[in-house]
Amino acid sequence: MREWAFVALGSNLGDRTANLAFARERLARLPETELVAQSAVEETEPLGSVPQGLYLNQMVLLRTGLAPRALLEACLAIERAAGRERRTRWGPRTLDLDIVRYGALQVHDADLVVPHPEVPRRPFWQRELAELIPHASGD
Ligand code: ADP
Ligand code: MG
Repeated sequence: MREWAFVALGSNLGDRTANLAFARERLARLPETELVAQSAVEETEPLGSVPQGLYLNQMVLLRTGLAPRALLEACLAIERAAGRERRTRWGPRTLDLDIVRYGALQVHDADLVVPHPEVPRRPFWQRELAELIPHASGD
């Protein structure tokens, strides 16, 4: 069975536009996965207290047969492939991929929380979701 998954892309290091494009290409090529729609790209102020550059954000809508945990692993692998180094929490990153929603599923594990708990605090995610939800129709 395939599900609708909303994945947020963020980048504030290096060639941010190229980093988002890289992420879209890699997500679209995952097994059992189709990239159905992509939101507009939006530039946003960094969150948290670490001084760093502006982010480019975008969200994509996937139709995927990958289970949530397999999708998370794939996202982390794409981040690594984009050269992401984990130093400080909330610090600058070449690529951040977050699973915002996975169908109607709720997950509350130590390493995976879905829907993503930051949605209520991130107006740009809310805008991107509103843009993509009309594309997630049918089963
Ligand atoms: P953040 O996205 O919070 O700035 P990271 O990108 O460094 O931080 O992610 C840290 C960890 O968050 C990941 O290794 C992953 O296990 C966990 N995580 C929990 N829920 C999610 C989710 N919905 N999407 C992506 N990662 C998640
Ligand atoms: Mg993340």
